[in-house]
Amino acid sequence: MNKIPFLDLKVINAKFEKEILVAVEKTIKSGWYIFGKELNLLEESIPEYTGLKYAAGVGSGLDALTLMIEAYDFPAKSEIIVPSNTYIATILSILRAGHIPILVEPDINSYLLNIGNVFEKITEKTVAILNVELYGKSGRPDLLREFCEINGLKLLLDAAQSLGSQFMGLYSSSFYDSVALSFYPTKNLGALGDAGAIVSNNEKLIYKIRSLRNYGSSKKYFFDHLGINSRLDEIQATILNVKLPHLRGEIELKRRIANRYIQEISNQHIILPDADAIFEDSWHLFVIRVNDRENFCKYMRQHNIGIDIHYPIPPHKQKALPQFNNLTLPVTELIHKEVVSLPMNISLSKENIDYIITTINHYL
Ligand SMILES: *Cc1c(COP(=O)(O)O)cnc(C)c1O
Repeated sequence: MNKIPFLDLKVINAKFEKEILVAVEKTIKSGWYIFGKELNLLEESIPEYTGLKYAAGVGSGLDALTLMIEAYDFPAKSEIIVPSNTYIATILSILRAGHIPILVEPDINSYLLNIGNVFEKITEKTVAILNVELYGKSGRPDLLREFCEINGLKLLLDAAQSLGSQFMGLYSSSFYDSVALSFYPTKNLGALGDAGAIVSNNEKLIYKIRSLRNYGSSKKYFFDHLGINSRLDEIQATILNVKLPHLRGEIELKRRIANRYIQEISNQHIILPDADAIFEDSWHLFVIRVNDRENFCKYMRQHNIGIDIHYPIPPHKQKALPQFNNLTLPVTELIHKEVVSLPMNISLSKENIDYIITTINHYL
């Protein structure tokens, strides 16, 4: 078997290459490169994939998170609940917006925020929960919604890994007050560069973010807010407009791969992901746990299967976040010690999947 890469973006994007080249040439020739009709079109079409009404394109997922939080104008140094098992960007965005991240341990089965751990963390300074649909899993947005309503909190979502995820037949993002997306090339909808967006039913919030992303200006040369420069340019918007109509089909393919992995991988050393919602998750990543990770990774590499680790070191153990280094978060630490991501993308052939399953089942 030839090497099966963990993810080859060249192969993934080759499927759209012709369409992208035609569309990008048109944009180049239009002579209009920032805030034009491609971004307008994207902002009109993205909501349909989230169950929310309004969108604002920005320069990256991290900027989407940061501007989303800033737009609420919470009192300085408010506390925002966030799962401790996440990519560092979620936590950075809270700090960049001038607030205090309150790290809460995940559930060991779903790897998502454990709602049972949240209540004891609420203080008079708590203003919001910033949840993360890690790996593309939605968990129980209905329970979070109810919890936030009872406790008077905003419910925000980092959906950088989960555009297209569903819960009980609805887009899971529709349970949230506002949602941040990333179009980083590896994500569910990937640009060929950096981009991100915020979606919400709160029209005023989206208008404010459209101003914040453009130096705080909504009318040329009038500045109402202390904004930044974080714009989603016309070329990236063009590429995203080409790829967006294929998103649902791609997620459907990944659900079928996930279903095969879950039904057919059987090895006492491997803990498979939660199978509660195989056909609702968007499967950005397929993450298993293995006790002796190093040995397993070596075995997979010897058998020419690309794997990755999301993530090897938790945010609270990073040098950049010394204020959290003393925390003990055993569930988060265990997850980071044992997770391994298997290939999960639309370029996997049936033979690739057969081979990955057989190889894992023979691991001793
Ligand atoms: C990728 C990612 C981000 C950041 O997105 P960028 O576009 O890289 O800035 C934030 N949160 C999570 C969970 C991510 O996976």
